[in-house]
Amino acid sequence: MQATSHAARTADLCLVGGGLVGLAVGLGLQRNGLKVTILDEGDIALRASRGNFGLVWVQGKGDTLPDYATVTRLSARLWPQLAQRLQDGTGIDIELQQRGGLYLSLSEQELSAREAMLLKMQHQAGGEYPFQRLDLKQVREFIPQAGPEVTGATWCPEDGHLNPLRLLRALTELFLRQGGQIRNSGRVSRITPLTTGFRLATPEGDWHCDKVVLSAGLGNRDLAPQVGLSAPLVPNRGQVLITERVQPFLHYPTGHVRQTGESTVQIGDSKEDVGFDSGTTTEVMAQIAARATRMFPLLRDLRMVRAWGALRIMTPDGYPIYQASSQYPGAYLVTCHSGVTLGALHEGPIANWIATDTNTLPLEAFHARRFES
Ligand SMILES: Cc1cc2nc3c(=O)[nH]c(=O)nc-3n(C[C@H](O)[C@H](O)[C@H](O)COP(=O)(O)OP(=O)(O)OC[C@H]3O[C@@H](n4cnc5c(N)ncnc54)[C@H](O)[C@@H]3O)c2cc1C
Repeated sequence: MQATSHAARTADLCLVGGGLVGLAVGLGLQRNGLKVTILDEGDIALRASRGNFGLVWVQGKGDTLPDYATVTRLSARLWPQLAQRLQDGTGIDIELQQRGGLYLSLSEQELSAREAMLLKMQHQAGGEYPFQRLDLKQVREFIPQAGPEVTGATWCPEDGHLNPLRLLRALTELFLRQGGQIRNSGRVSRITPLTTGFRLATPEGDWHCDKVVLSAGLGNRDLAPQVGLSAPLVPNRGQVLITERVQPFLHYPTGHVRQTGESTVQIGDSKEDVGFDSGTTTEVMAQIAARATRMFPLLRDLRMVRAWGALRIMTPDGYPIYQASSQYPGAYLVTCHSGVTLGALHEGPIANWIATDTNTLPLEAFHARRFES
């Protein structure tokens, strides 16, 4: 550790990365009375937060890690409260709807595999895991426009969706209104642990803070080792399509298709191992569209108006890392691949843990030591 040097810019706590994760944690830290500064790379950045599908999704999350199912469901329960706070504080309606969701299957085999997975999860949760297997007739009671190739679906009443761009805006606005500072002045290139606190090197000069939270998405990979943490993250691309507006027909989100508040239809999404390429390809867009039109034949007559690619932030097992540095107390890592779903968890219990060092969560399950062989 180096001795503390004079630093012109100071904060109680610096969050590195102002995407959905950093902003949600930031709001929760402000609620705990901390003066928070977010240091972000700026507009050139890779941002999963601008390219996601908007699901607040519960069913199937944590099939191989029951603690993940627990925190996912907790976050879903906390979402209405956070949505209300954002609405009250900014006037922005994030269009949260949690009336349940369907995961449609196009084969009996796929449907049976999902049912088996959810039955296992229900067993792990001591029976307290609501879901239902639906046949096509039952699916059409929810969505009359489901096509004849749909064999059925799994339904979970805890699933929902929201408008992710409005969410990003609402989080940013509330954070700023509450006195938070966001510096979009470029990459944090180096974090130096000091005798007390940390020094963060940025293009506008050094910042000094008592605590530092790494919420930099894929950028955590390089930053974590500087404060005694490890973030073995890889990008995974998802391509998403948007159609022109159409008469509302889809009143529940599905795993691959959802209708937005503006009545466009959002169709997703691929899972591609292509490194840091966030572009789109005709071949993958065609595959995504073909699957969606088999589910909902009415989509065949619609024009596509937009498409994009964005990079998921994946750990080797797909689960989050929530960890405090034991080598450099005051440094934390918060990273996950479902930052919409887990937003309320991050604003609530995760921020409380960082602010107070008291914990109500099964955090041991999310320590990066699980990746050590
Ligand atoms: C196609 C797709 C669909 C998705 N669908 C869903 C969904 O339906 N539901 C769901 O829950 N999740 C979904 N996700 C995941 C969700 O979008 C992400 O989990 C979430 O956006 C992650 O937010 P983040 O803040 O960690 O990362 P990011 O949004 O990537 O933000 C990280 C920020 O850190 C900054 N940064 C990085 N390095 C540095 C540095 N060195 N210095 C300063 N700043 C730095 C960047 O500028 C960036 O602004 C989806 C993702 C994709 C790609």
